[in-house]
Amino acid sequence: MNLSDPVTAIKGIGPKKAESLQKLGLFTVEDVTARFPRSYEDRRNPKAIASLKDGDRALVRAKVVLITKGRGFGRNRTLRILAEDSTGRMEALYFHAAYLEKAFRQGSEYAFFGKVKNENGRITMFQPDFAIAENEEEGILPVYSLSKGISQKEMRRIVKDALSAAEPSETLPLSVIKREGLCSRSYALNNIHFPQDETKYKEARYRLIFEEFFYLRSALMLSKNRFGAGREGRSVRSGWADRFIDRLPYPLTEAQRRSVEEILGDMADKKAMNRLLQGDVGSGKTAVAMAALAEACGAGFQGAFMAPTEILAKQHYATLTRELGPLGITVDLLLGSQTAAERKAVLTRLASGQTQVVAGTHAVISEKVAFQNLGLVITDEQHRFGVNQRKKLSEKGENPDVLVMTATPIPRTLAVVLYADLDVSVLDQLPPGRRPIQTRQYTEQSRKEAYRLLLQQVEEGRQAYIVAPFIEDSESVDGRSAEGLYEEFRKEYPQVSCALLHGAMKQNEKDAVMEKFAAGQVSVLISTVVIEVGIDVPNATVMIVENAERFGLAQLHQLRGRVGRGAHQSFCLLVLGESTDVAKERAATMCETTDGFVIAEKDLSMRGPGEFFGFRQHGLPQLALADPVRHMDLARKAGDSAMALLAADPGLQSAENSDFYARLKDKYVDPQVLIL
Ligand code: ADP
Ligand code: MG
Repeated sequence: MNLSDPVTAIKGIGPKKAESLQKLGLFTVEDVTARFPRSYEDRRNPKAIASLKDGDRALVRAKVVLITKGRGFGRNRTLRILAEDSTGRMEALYFHAAYLEKAFRQGSEYAFFGKVKNENGRITMFQPDFAIAENEEEGILPVYSLSKGISQKEMRRIVKDALSAAEPSETLPLSVIKREGLCSRSYALNNIHFPQDETKYKEARYRLIFEEFFYLRSALMLSKNRFGAGREGRSVRSGWADRFIDRLPYPLTEAQRRSVEEILGDMADKKAMNRLLQGDVGSGKTAVAMAALAEACGAGFQGAFMAPTEILAKQHYATLTRELGPLGITVDLLLGSQTAAERKAVLTRLASGQTQVVAGTHAVISEKVAFQNLGLVITDEQHRFGVNQRKKLSEKGENPDVLVMTATPIPRTLAVVLYADLDVSVLDQLPPGRRPIQTRQYTEQSRKEAYRLLLQQVEEGRQAYIVAPFIEDSESVDGRSAEGLYEEFRKEYPQVSCALLHGAMKQNEKDAVMEKFAAGQVSVLISTVVIEVGIDVPNATVMIVENAERFGLAQLHQLRGRVGRGAHQSFCLLVLGESTDVAKERAATMCETTDGFVIAEKDLSMRGPGEFFGFRQHGLPQLALADPVRHMDLARKAGDSAMALLAADPGLQSAENSDFYARLKDKYVDPQVLIL
């Protein structure tokens, strides 16, 4: 059996089981060896029944003394097994267990493993694993995530077979293994699946975590080498950024000024810029972007400004036209929904250089778009774009400067690992004069109060958003829908003009609604999260989030960012349909702070980095064992080690490292284009 063989090469895996494994993302023998256990069960020390405590997970060896078929008929029958050892008695309880009736024999000894309930000395195990005592699996056993059709026992056997049939190949350069004193990949895999003891398990885990960080950091550094440091670009300097800034009706914030300076420094430098601009919602990223665009256009280059949705692209187009037009810069718009004739006209102007800045959606990176002299590429809310899309766009010019902007704050703890060697500018300051948004939480019982506040604001001439988790009502899920709320609202408050917006509407319908809202013709916009990103309507002062428990912290923060963008006091009103502890904690966090970085940190600690929003969306593969927060030291170590390797062999082209390079490329699609 080879590592690259399909899982059907493993004994006992036919097409059906193979399908179950594929559902888990396991296609080859190697995949099986590389999918780590979710947890472990320590079955080394059987416990005496008398010593079992409530809540323990324990292994017990006991003789079956009585089998009782309980209530229920047929398959639904409950089975009670009374078993004893020399210290006492316990009951094992199985539900829907008709099929187990013949599995136990009175008088035989069995091993039971499961969670213990101890009610005043009355001991029960619910649905414990069991085996005839002499067949019992011993040691520290892995527990895997399963899919239908494969049992835990079977999965263990499959992994064991895969591990013993083919020697896992080494995935790190030997020089690194030696220098860091790591165990081999083969040893690590054997001991992460079937640890012989704690020490070996720890050794294995250390090596595998190191490896994950080592790959991640190598990919990041390599992409930086290609896209930043090593990449030859052009020196761009025109002084137009200052002209733009002088014309602004407001002074830049300190943070904006610092960011503009950093960006202009990169642009003036001969090598291509690869910078991330992180700024909380409302921190004024667009003005910074426009300063960069002005500088590029002043020097005779074209700029592209890409947004994830048409609504946003149009909004940017309007802003750019308004702010850059007076400098004599021509701005165009490119969208998927334009007519062929409109498109053609824009394409012609871009190719000839008549258009200097194009705003648009991913339409900007379609094959047909050619620039005359693309020098600067800006993507807004870049986490919505795939790595490949960003790569395509930068291929439109010859190593153009790249600026990616995001309103998703990366917690500093993660940034240490992810961005240690990337250029990052941070807008950690809001423009002055903003009044902090007041955030309050409501229950189903008090939600009328939230609406009372909304009406009051509308009467004063302000506008409001109401956001629901679903588009339409449905019986299968519990929660409000935009359509349902819209109907309700119209009936209850016929005097207030409202409109509906959701992702299933046609693009032109969405745009028409958004335009009306932006123009103030509609007072209340009832919507799904399609309005989550970027929309800027300063007159909107109320954000009601229905079923707020259904939204993550980062999303709530984004939604709240839609208000508080003007001079008026704004409100974010969270209506909790169901108050779980997590929902309450999230709502409390939202009420306590408006600092995106604090919220991101909290989000990270509540969800863990594997689930952390910023992580998957940044085009990074998921880490299986490594946790950038808990293993920060190891992350640093691996980073240093990767840096040393790349310093000695910058392209990883030496014979010794080529295998590692091939694996790295495979894992990260193409590390050269991993732009963050
Ligand atoms: P975001 O960072 O969320 O994209 P925007 O760029 O949309 O934020 O800016 C939010 C609002 O703040 C806009 O209406 C913009 O005109 C305004 N703004 C930006 N910078 C300043 C500043 N230095 N002083 C006052 N208002 C500003
Ligand atoms: Mg923005």
